[in-house]
Amino acid sequence: MYQFSRAVYRELSPLVIEDGMSVEARRDLLEACERAFSRLAKDRHYFARPARSLFNDIRIHFPMTRQMRVYRVVDRYMSVASGYVAQREQEGLSIDGTPLCCHASTRKGTPCQRVPLPGSKYCPSHKHLEETFVEIAAA
Ligand SMILES: [Zn+2]
Repeated sequence: MYQFSRAVYRELSPLVIEDGMSVEARRDLLEACERAFSRLAKDRHYFARPARSLFNDIRIHFPMTRQMRVYRVVDRYMSVASGYVAQREQEGLSIDGTPLCCHASTRKGTPCQRVPLPGSKYCPSHKHLEETFVEIAAA
């Protein structure tokens, strides 16, 4: 995810408002990008509208006239990154290439070692946990 956050930073850094706060603004921009992309990698299923979320975090550092351009950059890289994460997930791999594991715990309390279903955080035995979570979230 490092390359995505760096790429966004490189494109947006020259657009930051130049004033006495631009050093802090750029640092904040970089941190926000890193946070957003690492969250996308780790927690894609619970990260709704990642492009909108990152844009809201960083938009204060850009002039009004550049906001649309900033959003387009963020949206473009987020789409590519989401596709990349989803692709790895279909292959049963996390973003760093290690095999995905089910997020549930066994009855003994140890982490479940089974491979999750494609597009899910849980293996077939623990699939019901995801459905429960979605129902609670939707209620
Ligand atoms: Zn499991």
